[in-house]
Amino acid sequence: MGGAGVAEENPHAVCLPFPAQGHVTPMFNVAKLLHARGFFVTFVNSEYNHARLVHTRGAVALAGVPGFRFDTIPDGMPAIDDDDDDVTQDIPALCKSTTETCLEPFRRLLSEINTSASAEGRPPVTCVISDVIMGFSMDAANELGLPYVQLSTASAVSYLAYHHYNLLIDRGIFPLKDVKQLTDGYLNTPVEDVPGLRSMRIRDFPSFIRSTDPDEFMVGYAIKETERTASASAVIINSFADLESQEVATIETLLGLPKVYMLGPLPLVSAPHSTAIVSGLSLWKEQEECLQWLHGKDTGSVVYVNFGSIVVMTNEQMVEFAWGLANSGREFIWIIRRDLVRGDAAVLPPEFLAATAERGFMASWCPQQEVLNHPAVGAFLTHSGWNSALESICAGVPVISWPFFADQQTNCRYQCNEWGVGMEIDSNVKRDVVSALITELMEGEKGKAMRKRADEWREKAVMAAEPDGSAYRNFDELIRDVLLAKH
Ligand code: UDP
Repeated sequence: MGGAGVAEENPHAVCLPFPAQGHVTPMFNVAKLLHARGFFVTFVNSEYNHARLVHTRGAVALAGVPGFRFDTIPDGMPAIDDDDDDVTQDIPALCKSTTETCLEPFRRLLSEINTSASAEGRPPVTCVISDVIMGFSMDAANELGLPYVQLSTASAVSYLAYHHYNLLIDRGIFPLKDVKQLTDGYLNTPVEDVPGLRSMRIRDFPSFIRSTDPDEFMVGYAIKETERTASASAVIINSFADLESQEVATIETLLGLPKVYMLGPLPLVSAPHSTAIVSGLSLWKEQEECLQWLHGKDTGSVVYVNFGSIVVMTNEQMVEFAWGLANSGREFIWIIRRDLVRGDAAVLPPEFLAATAERGFMASWCPQQEVLNHPAVGAFLTHSGWNSALESICAGVPVISWPFFADQQTNCRYQCNEWGVGMEIDSNVKRDVVSALITELMEGEKGKAMRKRADEWREKAVMAAEPDGSAYRNFDELIRDVLLAKH
């Protein structure tokens, strides 16, 4: 099979991402790979995100190309004012609403596609690729007897950490006994003997266990969704063997999962197909000026600051970051999303703006991969979302990490403690720590060692993504043994 023909006999993959940026992007990368192999692809966005994408990309780009079509289902969330249509949705609420309301619309969509398939000249659905946390879709795929593959958009280490929520319950660590444990140093307690994970402290587990509520929705949800994966036909993970093969092997045995296919790092693996459909599915308008600003700067001289699509902080925390950047004396590019600061809009001190006018550039969203790959960028102040973590590895840029929630804590632990590419900032961020870490990273011995490690990881990531590398070998196997296998 080659190219992207629309013949009715082509296999047809329906791709269903969880409707948040960090999930839509890796699923789109998988979809591009399938399309390049001759699969007809239906990519299912939430109605809310589709409207945003039409806004950032234009309706024409979202019309699809031969063999690739966008479709939508509602996410079940209450409508948001039009004026506010570019803000981040409440993620726990979105998890709840997709789980509770999306099965029926998804089922209907599959049925409509199959009913109209031959009239529209597109093949009937032959497989479903669903986000791990859209596990409700398994029922719809099973009813049609389709291969059902789940994509985990998180790291293997954080996948294991979620799995070990059960262990934290058994050991009486979750639920917390008292809210004071959040601030009295208790979270620094080591957790010994965690199968498949090294040097874990309570704070390194995905953040939802930081609760005194035994019925905390996100804990039960994570356990259920992780367990449900064992019934999928296969699992795709956005990682690569040199980085996480041991953890993936542990996942397969410990969780009794079907085969896990490492197709990462997806940003590099899918790069050859980057413009085949639409250049990317960014939910915010990218400000290209960021790249222009970087041009001509010295190699490795700029600190890039971006906390992704979900992080929210207090204005006090933002001010600490601001003075940390200012006092470091470095040039920086700082992406401040419109809703980055809890409550009101971000207010930066005029003295900070005056002090950094010549050496700081601020924007509300950027083409992150291009920024990270710009030679001027020497450090990344990040929240350690898994896409950002992988993108920094692909670009060979070391990080300073301020993890906020979910899997970011575990990613940060591994970046700092195991992979040698990061330094952590405590959640109670202080300006002196920010500036000291920037100086250490840009000028110190530790920074030098981290840059070397980051470069070594970049080389390994590039190798995994080569045409004869591990990702494409795994992809071939996935197609042969699962997606096109006769049942
Ligand atoms: N991103 C981007 N421009 C920005 C901020 C983020 O393109 O200004 C992209 C980034 O490259 C990554 C994704 O958004 O692919 C964020 O995913 P991640 O897992 O890092 O964090 P999340 O947003 O899910 O917390």
